[in-house]
Amino acid sequence: MVGLFPIFAIGILFILFGLGYLVGRRYDHSLMGVIIGVGSFILILGGYVLVLFMEHCWQPMIPKCKNNKCRKDADFELLEIKSEGWYYQCRCGTKYLLKKRGQHGRQFMELLSDGTTKPYMKHTRFGRWRPDSSL
Ligand SMILES: [Zn+2]
Repeated sequence: MVGLFPIFAIGILFILFGLGYLVGRRYDHSLMGVIIGVGSFILILGGYVLVLFMEHCWQPMIPKCKNNKCRKDADFELLEIKSEGWYYQCRCGTKYLLKKRGQHGRQFMELLSDGTTKPYMKHTRFGRWRPDSSL
């Protein structure tokens, strides 16, 4: 979605320009039409950024740590990326494994010192982080 957005946006920009131009010509103000076209484009782009921002607030990349201290993505250091997922360490020193779960969900597991993982939090596509019920 994010990767395709530039192409999508350019397409919309052209359509809006065209529409703006046609509207402007209809009322004999071609410049006005272009301004309407660009204005609508900026509104759509702003809306899209807002949606991304809201989604990030609603569903951050990483949930808060189990000590309830580390809440920001910046509190977590990315240790390693492996085929099973992303390894993180929070400021308290606890290690976690962030795994994909199904198509869009994610699972956040605590990495124990013996190398095993313990389910901690999970979320679905539009859901918030919730404690993993298999805890
Ligand atoms: Zn922590």
